[in-house]
Amino acid sequence: MSDIAVAESVWETALKRNIFIYDPNSKFKINLIYDQRQLATLQKEKQESGLEALENALKTLDAQLSAEKKDFESKLTVQNAAVAQFESRQKKYEAMVEYWNSQGGAPKKEYESMQSEQRSLNDEAAALNASAAKLNAIAKDLNALIEKRNNAAREYNKTAENYNDAYGHGLEFNQAEFTGAAINVYQFGNERDLTLALAHELGHALGMDHVENPKSIMYYVTSSNTSTALAATPEDLIELTRVCPDASSRGADLLRRLKTGFSLEKILPKK
Ligand SMILES: [Zn+2]
Repeated sequence: MSDIAVAESVWETALKRNIFIYDPNSKFKINLIYDQRQLATLQKEKQESGLEALENALKTLDAQLSAEKKDFESKLTVQNAAVAQFESRQKKYEAMVEYWNSQGGAPKKEYESMQSEQRSLNDEAAALNASAAKLNAIAKDLNALIEKRNNAAREYNKTAENYNDAYGHGLEFNQAEFTGAAINVYQFGNERDLTLALAHELGHALGMDHVENPKSIMYYVTSSNTSTALAATPEDLIELTRVCPDASSRGADLLRRLKTGFSLEKILPKK
């Protein structure tokens, strides 16, 4: 009822008087009809929320991947620096071995020092191999995560493509109609959508025809007109003035016609 009041006020504000009167006994009905059109709207919304869930999952994976990749890269940098240091120590050690061998052997003190360096290098090599194995395990996890992320992206893209195929051009059907004896509303996405459709059909009930401005309430398409404000445009007002050229002279006739009023009959979706 409040949606109807909002829809009425569009024309009542322009004419500066009350023209639609609610009468529960009136034969004129406003019907909310649930059929495949409203079903299509609900399915579209369901697909949109499914798509949004996939998008959020993908964003979460992207954030996780980026954090883990950063962590891996910093560990890899540390590892590479340690390996470079090891290799330079190893080179020095090998040069010493080569030198003392060319001298026919090293003195006891040098020999012991080199033995100690060899043990230390062996320990260092074992530690580096262990950290390399850990890094490889992290890289494997990272690759699995990349694959998971790419699968999520593929699923999102496929769902988005299906959605665009189905709804890329909007839903194409009559949202509502004025039959002369009733207003039937077949589809609305939200309350604003409903009041816009009601204002449009009430305009027809006043005798108004369609106007050319896509922003007008009386534009011939209302279902995809989400940017339309719930206020009469100059084109709407010209059309309103055409059907009500002189409020005082037409007033009696208009009031008689509109005093039939209307009642609201809601048809609930079948279970
Ligand atoms: Zn229309």
